[in-house]
Amino acid sequence: MAGNLEKFQSPGRGNGLRAVRSLCPGVTVFKAEPYVYTVCHGKQYRAACHHCLRRGTKLLRCSQCKFARYCDVRCQKAAWEGHKRECMCLKCVLPNIPTDSVRLVGRIIFKLLQSPDCDSEELYSLSDLQSHIKELSEEMKDGLGQLVTTLELYLKNQIQDSSQLPPGCGIIELFGKVTCNSFTISDGEMQDVAVGLYPSMSLLNHSCDPNCVIVFEGRCLLLRTVKEIPKGEELTISYIDVMMPTHQRQSQLQRQYCFTCDCHQCLSRDKAEDMLAGDEQSSKKMESSLARIKGLQYQESEEKEVLGMCKALLNSSQLPDRNIHQLKVLDCALDMCINLGLWEEALSFGLRTLQPYSLYYSNYHPVRVIQIMKVGKLQHYLGMFPEAMETLKQAFDIMKVTHGDDHSIMKDLRELLGDCASSMNAT
Ligand SMILES: [Zn+2]
Ligand SMILES: [Zn+2]
Ligand SMILES: [Zn+2]
Repeated sequence: MAGNLEKFQSPGRGNGLRAVRSLCPGVTVFKAEPYVYTVCHGKQYRAACHHCLRRGTKLLRCSQCKFARYCDVRCQKAAWEGHKRECMCLKCVLPNIPTDSVRLVGRIIFKLLQSPDCDSEELYSLSDLQSHIKELSEEMKDGLGQLVTTLELYLKNQIQDSSQLPPGCGIIELFGKVTCNSFTISDGEMQDVAVGLYPSMSLLNHSCDPNCVIVFEGRCLLLRTVKEIPKGEELTISYIDVMMPTHQRQSQLQRQYCFTCDCHQCLSRDKAEDMLAGDEQSSKKMESSLARIKGLQYQESEEKEVLGMCKALLNSSQLPDRNIHQLKVLDCALDMCINLGLWEEALSFGLRTLQPYSLYYSNYHPVRVIQIMKVGKLQHYLGMFPEAMETLKQAFDIMKVTHGDDHSIMKDLRELLGDCASSMNAT
């Protein structure tokens, strides 16, 4: 797989990956299975199979820990090797479920004890990963210290003292490595489903305007080019959501990854004004209301209330839709409407987000294309076939680059397009 890229020393940034030949947009330059991964747990996440990560409503629970869930016996069997010891630990701490990062580090430890080498370490190994422990703020270090305590309690059933740990394994280092190297695995709708480590991909450096993106097919990571990349140029991805003002992006990168971003977008403060467009007071007010809404959003019974709050805010707002706080409120209103089956209203909110999305997720971006597809699906569902056709075609052109022809979501999109075409012919 490593025929498109190679490890190199990136000036001022340590290790990096660069193209060994010129690449056009829409190429899968690397595919990787995770070293370890764990399904995200929490109210805000929809259920998924702990093995293949497919969503499902009728997943079977592991009879032992009642926490792990699977599509069927096949997935359960395939997952057992990685779940066996974790299962005993989970059983002992129930009904408490340790956080995602604690479970992930638990899995790393069991893996190290069992089968140290892994294909996902082709270019870079777990032991190569940076932990940045020395550079972390005291507050971050304290946080990691607490995680270590939680982990020790969680693993007690299998590991009673440090002599049973893999040799040379500092637990706090592992938490540091997880903090700055784990990837959030998203599903076809760009919803978070799991977290995993893909050590070779940790070589990729960050840019707020990257030339590559990462998408997932199940738990398999695909690194895809979204720009023309000349031979020898460094490959970059964005570690964070780019829809944040410059100072917020920079402080998150500093806090979590311990570096100051000096990409073109940060230096030129490109788009910074658009992101906070409109009256400053109103923008700040929108931001704090958004935080309140986010707190309520994941409690199902509150959906109507959340939608009501979003609508009240949007109705009284003088801000343009490209203001990112307002844009996030629009997004929230869109999701609430979809959950409540209010399709027409959903469409009107969705349509308002497309232009600003094209500004912030410019060129080929998976988040943007999923948003366009969402709007196209609503139009299709409402019987607006010519409009749906146009929207879905636009999604198709972008998705060919971001996801590629072989991705399963392209199959869904082709079916929708086909259905639009036949519905138009029928009328
Ligand atoms: Zn499955
Ligand atoms: Zn179990
Ligand atoms: Zn930047």
